Amino acid sequence: MSDGFDVVVIGSGPGGYVAAIRCAQLGLRTACIEKEPLLGGTCLRVGCIPSKALLESSERYVEAQKHLGEHGITVKDVAFDLGKLLARKDKIVKGLTDGVAHLLKKNGVERFDGHGAIQEKNDDGYVVHIKKGRGKPKSITGRHIIVATGSKVADLPGVERNGDLIGGSTEALSYPEVPDHLVVIGAGVIGLELGSVWARLGAKVTVLEYAKTCLPMMDSSIGKEAAKIFKRQGLDMKFGVRVTGARVEDDGCVVEADGMEPLKCDRVLVAVGRAPYTDKLGLENVGIDTDSRGRIPTDGHLQTSAPGVFAIGDVTTGAMLAHKAEEEGIAVAEHIATGWGHVNYDAIPNVIYTDPEIASVGRTSEELKEAGVPFKAGSFPFKANGRARALGQTQGLVKILAHAETDRVLGVHMIGPRVGELIIEASMAMSFGASSEDIARVCHAHPTLHEVVKEAALAVDSRAIHM
Ligand code: FAD
Ligand code: NAD
Repeated sequence: MSDGFDVVVIGSGPGGYVAAIRCAQLGLRTACIEKEPLLGGTCLRVGCIPSKALLESSERYVEAQKHLGEHGITVKDVAFDLGKLLARKDKIVKGLTDGVAHLLKKNGVERFDGHGAIQEKNDDGYVVHIKKGRGKPKSITGRHIIVATGSKVADLPGVERNGDLIGGSTEALSYPEVPDHLVVIGAGVIGLELGSVWARLGAKVTVLEYAKTCLPMMDSSIGKEAAKIFKRQGLDMKFGVRVTGARVEDDGCVVEADGMEPLKCDRVLVAVGRAPYTDKLGLENVGIDTDSRGRIPTDGHLQTSAPGVFAIGDVTTGAMLAHKAEEEGIAVAEHIATGWGHVNYDAIPNVIYTDPEIASVGRTSEELKEAGVPFKAGSFPFKANGRARALGQTQGLVKILAHAETDRVLGVHMIGPRVGELIIEASMAMSFGASSEDIARVCHAHPTLHEVVKEAALAVDSRAIHM
């Protein structure tokens, strides 16, 4: 076989492997290069999947320890084995990453093991070198390149990450013992998910956040509700705190922040965002610049300034979410093969897998106000829903924002039981350009949590029934 491909995908995360499979389905000869031994990227190896495995295990521990009694069920001597809990997570990761290898093979995608770097453009396309260890690099050519190299933990000036006591999310997925005191820098998604895991397993968790409340990028009503709930769960949340430094000292760590006494703890989790990963990728060889935040800019077809080179997922602009990367992978593959490809960025859901879960799609009240868009809002609490009561999970609400004149749904924000699943109803409605009236007129089964979505839609017009 020659080493000339229609498409060379660099990176096998949810953006890269999905793009490669779709390219192959569309009849394009496709290669996928990955530098790590396991396929699947951040998401499968050290992101979405392992974090959800730990969230599930720790939630069940708390359930057995604190909540089964409400159902009249007696469970004695509830304990956990951290080694087994972590091994379960690793097994899930291994199973899914092996699954990606199987899918690539099944679809005829050729896999290359090593670090990919774009060298030059010649008459056959773009030349990519693949380097593994100290050996001579292998050279392949692609008429099109899809850069899907993802992201890495963002650093904070003054905070010395040492891959152990002061680390990012990857370390926090595998602490060998439950820390006595964990300080989390940042009350964003990772801070709340992984902070919850270790708090449930018994650590004292202090979360230091620069903004006035947690999840500053979400609708403020949801952020405030979340802060109340997580404080009640025992997370020590401090807002308006700008961390300026952290260092290892005497077998522990010290964290410094403006206006705060230095804080001693066992471990520090740095969770202040993620940065695009373009190390030694050779972008300069084909004239591609990154923006001020290190991202690869693209046009409306996700094409970079080099014709035929595309960038998708965390390495380009937009939300850093696995399903956004996947959608972009499919859109680029279809654009290359057919000239058409589209992502509806207005309907990309965002889910935080804490307990209760938090989810949103579309624009927040703050964004609509700033843009001068007239809107009306309807909200409905889970405490007035029969299924939520039966589950014993009555915290939270659903809030729907609709255009004041057309009634078209512009944003949906939720905190409550299983809202990570409920949000898809809202994404679906928004994908079809639905109004709040449309959602309200759909017959929702009783008793389900989805009835809260219907009632919130009715509330947009001040006609909720059960409140
Ligand atoms: P990545 O998944 O980062 O994959 C990029 C791949 O490219 C990597 O495997 C990397 O090794 C490889 N690579 C990089 N450079 C090269 C090169 N030069 N040559 C060869 N290979 C290269 N998102 C969600 O939607 N839901 C969640 O629940 C969720 N949870 C998360 C939890 C954590 C702890 C973290 C850190 C992230 C989470 N995310 C979640 C975000 C999600 O993981 C990312 O948005 C997603 O993985 C981005 O996909 P990607 O394909 O762009 O990049
Ligand atoms: P984030 O952007 O969600 O949150 C970072 C937080 O750190 C912000 O609230 C910010 O105000 C705060 N911060 C920044 N500098 C600070 C300072 N000096 N002192 C105190 N606080 C400071 O970032 P993250 O939690 O690291 O997550 C990274 C990305 O990974 C997110 O963009 C998210 O999309 C993705 N992710 C998604 C999921 C999910 O979908 N469930 C889970 C984990 C991660």
